[in-house]
Amino acid sequence: MGAIGEGYAIDLHTHSLRSDGALSPADLVKRAAARGVTIQALSDHDTLAGIAEAEATGRDLGVRIIPATELNTESEWGDAHVLGYFIDPADAALEDRLRWLRSNRGRRIELMVEKLNALDYAVDLARVLEIAQGGALGRPHLAQALFEKGYVKSYDEAFDTLIAKDSPAYVARVGLTPLEAVTLVRTHGGVPSLAHPGTVIGLDELLPRLVAAGLAGIEAYYGEHSPRMTARCLDRARELDLVPTGGSDFHGRGEHGVDIGGVFVPPETIERLESRRRGA
Ligand code: AMP
Ligand code: FE
Ligand code: FE
Ligand code: ZN
Repeated sequence: MGAIGEGYAIDLHTHSLRSDGALSPADLVKRAAARGVTIQALSDHDTLAGIAEAEATGRDLGVRIIPATELNTESEWGDAHVLGYFIDPADAALEDRLRWLRSNRGRRIELMVEKLNALDYAVDLARVLEIAQGGALGRPHLAQALFEKGYVKSYDEAFDTLIAKDSPAYVARVGLTPLEAVTLVRTHGGVPSLAHPGTVIGLDELLPRLVAAGLAGIEAYYGEHSPRMTARCLDRARELDLVPTGGSDFHGRGEHGVDIGGVFVPPETIERLESRRRGA
């Protein structure tokens, strides 16, 4: 990637190679530090595997790492993803549940490769696994395999034409509903926030139900939000007593438009989120 440039101090949504990001946890934190980030949540999908490495680099470079995970869900509510903050990376019972979600991810990608092969796209499961380097498998790995083979000109094109919902090679996820995701985070002492609410279908109906299950935050500050969407999230946050959170959703392949630290998050957010921990 090009010049590093300057970012904001807080980023509460980032992904590493332990899921579908392109950088190792150490390199991700190095990039964050170089951009001026001092508080970073590592929020890999369905895994805690990168947190220790991120914390070690963070200690060296003055970046506080907030342990987190992002749970993508399956339901009629569209892309409802739940960020869980302040989870314990050594929580074995949580890890058990995440392992189940990761094995479902693997099976889903296998099925999508089979569908692609049947459509005459010769992507190799072995190559997809190589791209993922042991991280929690996801469609971005499949998008990269399609891109490498020249079937698509960009990741976006892979999603738009082949692997997004309602596209020919799509397979539904076996996993949690949004309500179950919020409950899982709460059960394990974490603080749940609804990621990029703009991708949810029926946001105003879903939010009060998630709040009843313990939702504490809403990702109001997000690179792909219009000013109007941010304002709408801030309104809902006031009405439902949610903490507005935010982050880049940096994966390292130019997705979601912004670099790490590229979204302004108010400094009081951290304290407000911490105050929503229960029994801590
Ligand atoms: P999965 O968890 O396997 O369903 O993959 C979902 C992930 O794909 C999201 O977390 C995003 O990182 C990424 N993603 C979703 N839509 C797009 C898109 N249109 N272009 C690039 N990446 C996307
Ligand atoms: Fe992702
Ligand atoms: Fe997401
Ligand atoms: Zn994300």
